[in-house]
Amino acid sequence: MSAHLFVTLILTSLFSNSVAHLPHFFPNMSSIPHNLIPNSTLGIWNSFQNLTGCHAGQKIDGLARIKNYFQYFGYINISSTNFTDDFDDALESAIKTYQLNFNLNATGELDEPTMNHIVKPRCGVADIINGSSSMNSGKSSSNLIHTVSHYSFFPGTPRWPDSKRDLSYAFQPENQLSDTVKAVFARAFLRWSEVIPMTFNETSSFADADIKIGFFSGDHGDGEPFDGVLGTLAHAFSPPSGRFHLDSAENWIVAGNIGDSTAASAVDLESVAVHEIGHLLGLGHSSIESAIMYPSISSATRKVELVSDDIQGIQSLYGSNPNYNGSSTLTTQQRETSGAGSNFMGRLWGMRILLLGVGFVFIL
Ligand SMILES: [Zn+2]
Ligand SMILES: [Zn+2]
Repeated sequence: MSAHLFVTLILTSLFSNSVAHLPHFFPNMSSIPHNLIPNSTLGIWNSFQNLTGCHAGQKIDGLARIKNYFQYFGYINISSTNFTDDFDDALESAIKTYQLNFNLNATGELDEPTMNHIVKPRCGVADIINGSSSMNSGKSSSNLIHTVSHYSFFPGTPRWPDSKRDLSYAFQPENQLSDTVKAVFARAFLRWSEVIPMTFNETSSFADADIKIGFFSGDHGDGEPFDGVLGTLAHAFSPPSGRFHLDSAENWIVAGNIGDSTAASAVDLESVAVHEIGHLLGLGHSSIESAIMYPSISSATRKVELVSDDIQGIQSLYGSNPNYNGSSTLTTQQRETSGAGSNFMGRLWGMRILLLGVGFVFIL
């Protein structure tokens, strides 16, 4: 291999390394380079599709991984990390609970509708925390029929104290976010401050901010590592933590038009921000699909309007903004598109890792 090629490889690896630590943003779908837009929806959970049709009593390669998925989101409440590939009672029970939470037929099997739902990108916050379910499965069946509210809170109902009604937020300085990106977060905060008596203002002092926003790759020190393109998109902690983390690996779209394309490794930043701010304020997940606090969002989808379930939930924690007259209860603009995905992005990142490895070996 020529010296020139080695230098090129090292430069490429250094470039790839720096890019991997900075989030990347696109103004809209059409600005994503064509070769980065894959043709089918392939997130990191796509391999689960091979398990479609599995049911109790079977032993199939890959069932251990899906048990890890259910454990991560609170559906298997045991500390084991060494799961078997047996379709056991714990898995069947986890699937039934999941199906109940997401309004699917509670078959206890990995049927097609269930599997299609499992592979959707979603929030990294668990649906069931410390064994207590905040969604449908935590409510009695009579409650399910007679109530329209499905909002929920974290265990112990943590909220910001009465002395804290003007919250500051700041961005991780290393992310070097543009004003355009910061404006997306400002809009997302505004959607909540319109309905409750709270304000959110950006501060330049990251250390002192009530809410700290940062984009991270993989393991970033809080025990909740990010997983690359799609899969989990972001997570935020309950009050008064204020930590709000987003996955750097996503193709974040910062303004509009996301529904105009069927290509879809792209994720609408404002949609995710509005959801995560709900967690920062104390809301858990809701089983109402149109609600902002529903845990999953299809890629290439924009969903930014609070619906009555979100508003009732947050107002029960903080009361109503005196200027709120109910008119913000807009219908959700959910433009779900099928298809699209991220297989090519996965290969791209794999290539970067390979180049990094080659550069590393040469340095040695
Ligand atoms: Zn969430
Ligand atoms: Zn985190």
